[in-house]
Amino acid sequence: MDIDQYRSKVSATFNAAPSAKTVDIAVIGGGVQGCALAAEAASRRLSTLLIEAEDIANGASSRSNRIIGGDLSQLEQLDIEAVNRGLQEQAILRQRAPHLVRSHNFTILPNTTLRSRRRIQAGLYSYRALQRRFGLPSNSCPAHIIDVPYSELFSYCDDSVDDSRLTLALAQQARTLGASIRPHTKLLKATRKQDFWLLELQNSNGNIEHLRAKVLINAAGSASVKLMQDHIEHSSRSKGMLRRDDYLVISSPAHCDNALVLQADNKQLIYLLDTPSGQHAVLGPWQSNNVEAMDPSAAEEQLIALYNQNFKANISADDIVHRFHALRCLCADSSCEQNKTSQDYALDLDNPASLAPLLNSYGGNIGTHRLLAEQALTILQPFTGALINPELKTKSLPGGDFNGGLTALQSELEFNNPTIEPTLLQRLARSYGSNSHKILLGVTRMTDLGLRFGDNLYQREVEYLCSEEWAQSAEDILWRRSKLGLCFSAAEKQALQAFISAG
Ligand SMILES: Cc1cc2nc3c(=O)[nH]c(=O)nc-3n(C[C@H](O)[C@H](O)[C@H](O)COP(=O)(O)OP(=O)(O)OC[C@H]3O[C@@H](n4cnc5c(N)ncnc54)[C@H](O)[C@@H]3O)c2cc1C
Repeated sequence: MDIDQYRSKVSATFNAAPSAKTVDIAVIGGGVQGCALAAEAASRRLSTLLIEAEDIANGASSRSNRIIGGDLSQLEQLDIEAVNRGLQEQAILRQRAPHLVRSHNFTILPNTTLRSRRRIQAGLYSYRALQRRFGLPSNSCPAHIIDVPYSELFSYCDDSVDDSRLTLALAQQARTLGASIRPHTKLLKATRKQDFWLLELQNSNGNIEHLRAKVLINAAGSASVKLMQDHIEHSSRSKGMLRRDDYLVISSPAHCDNALVLQADNKQLIYLLDTPSGQHAVLGPWQSNNVEAMDPSAAEEQLIALYNQNFKANISADDIVHRFHALRCLCADSSCEQNKTSQDYALDLDNPASLAPLLNSYGGNIGTHRLLAEQALTILQPFTGALINPELKTKSLPGGDFNGGLTALQSELEFNNPTIEPTLLQRLARSYGSNSHKILLGVTRMTDLGLRFGDNLYQREVEYLCSEEWAQSAEDILWRRSKLGLCFSAAEKQALQAFISAG
């Protein structure tokens, strides 16, 4: 059988009704890419299964810088195509999930030994021109920063997105489109059997299950390398390489009312961006390519030193309230050389003749998840026969279907719920958009929200997250769904966990 015969045979089987234990597409990994891939596949009417070993957004998709838009490092490398791609996707995401996107005034702190004043001015001039092409705001407000020893600062406007909430919104969209979303289910082994994959899965109770998939997509992020080495039978020659990015969380500095960009001596751009709660700021990433040999305390020292070079008020290790790191899997293959620098994505199709296809997704950004998913399913079209659903590009993500912007939604919630704390309403609007109405249904006073677990987290929201967003533990709620983790004491976390376990 030649490849064309094989493709038509597989195409024909795709149109047949799927049996209970066979899906058209299985996606491994419930990060932003996996969830976007599942939504894209389901929108093309393919029976879709997403398997996530832990919680949705457990990996890099809850530990990113959250910045979307064109990447200034890409601009510096004159990779204009990549910058345009990022800006175009930024404009689309602003429409699809306006509650999750936030504008910032970014201020670059100068370091003339690395980049001259003219170089930065010229770069920002071009960047603003590209932003205007996509109808994005390009006027930055003047920076109000005291405590820095500089007389001239450079600013530009860009957006951030709540990464884990975006991932959860994509998972919800995929579910609404018919995909089966299975957190806490791990892929143990994927074996190729001619024109399907046999998957061995393990759920959180340790039970083993076998399923068939006609196409397998590996979107396991930093675990991709290990999966390809030990768990997926394949003949792909592409290789992933890991990069580690370290961050420090400090109390939100009083002198910072916007996002700051610091220039490290090795030319890395390091961001200081406040957290969604506004109470802390995240400094990073410090990137290290040699993951095995690296010393995490060295990254911390470099970040503290860089901060102290740029601000009059110094910080020390005692000012760090939290440390975290994330691993990124980039394509190390010479055919995707560009990925090493531009951090763009690579899709690698492995389909030796007459065997079921495997698609590996490497790298990528939060901002370009939609494009990656669309291209991946287009690459698989000869096998699935499933055409693009053009409506998906403009379809609001769950919670994103409201008019007049976030301020209008917040005002509406405050008007309808005059007895509810405005700060809670603001947080709900930012996290859930129009789905805040579901959480507040029937609530007329604060006591209707039930138990208060800490900060402004109440029973009503916890129950919503357990029933609608797959939450199973205090960690799931505090670190990925509400991002209130840093605002909770150990005792409050325990009480929340006890409540969830009892339910
Ligand atoms: C430090 C850092 C900063 C970043 N900053 C930005 C930024 O500012 N802007 C931007 O656009 N992008 C940024 N990115 C990139 C972006 O975060 C990543 O591209 C994106 O989150 C990767 O998503 P993913 O779905 O590929 O991987 P992940 O989010 O890591 O998801 C992979 C998932 O696969 C699961 N998995 C692993 N093994 C198995 C298995 N055997 N079975 C089932 N599931 C499995 C894991 O549990 C995990 O949840 C940043 C990345 C990092 C690391």
